Amino acid sequence: MSDASKPAKKDADGEVRRIKAPVKLDYTVTAGLALSRFLKGVTAGKLLGQRCGVCSKVYVPPRGGCPTCGVGMGEQVEVKDTGTLTTFCIVNVPFEGQTMKLPYVYGLIALDGADNALHHLILAPPEEVRMGMRLRAEWVPPESRPASMEAIRWFVPTGEPDAPWDSYKEHL
Ligand SMILES: [Zn+2]
Repeated sequence: MSDASKPAKKDADGEVRRIKAPVKLDYTVTAGLALSRFLKGVTAGKLLGQRCGVCSKVYVPPRGGCPTCGVGMGEQVEVKDTGTLTTFCIVNVPFEGQTMKLPYVYGLIALDGADNALHHLILAPPEEVRMGMRLRAEWVPPESRPASMEAIRWFVPTGEPDAPWDSYKEHL
């Protein structure tokens, strides 16, 4: 019996003020040109961004337009699958559909060659994770790699010395 099929609980005064109502939303996203190229790239184990022709910043995934300059993005750029952890959180709260064992780490990673940071899972003991930590992507094997960010299972520490603050302070 699901929570939705249980009768609503009444408060002491006999009024119903709360019910549990599961919500589900199915939707389809049309990726567009820039994101389609990026998604095809991840199936081939490549991280493709685009460089703005005005400010020269590289965004991964590409956005079609530069959020700083408001112009269309220029050349396609492949960035590395290594990067620096700029900020992170340790997840301790269970939720439906969770696949990671608690506690786990989720962070923002500035990939080498990119001027923004992307979100992803970090596979490392939470007590060892720190800003500036160097990471590398752990890819799903090519034969089962989806056209999504799930093509990367998670990021793991490289063991390199931490990146200096000045190298990533703009990507928090
Ligand atoms: Zn720009």
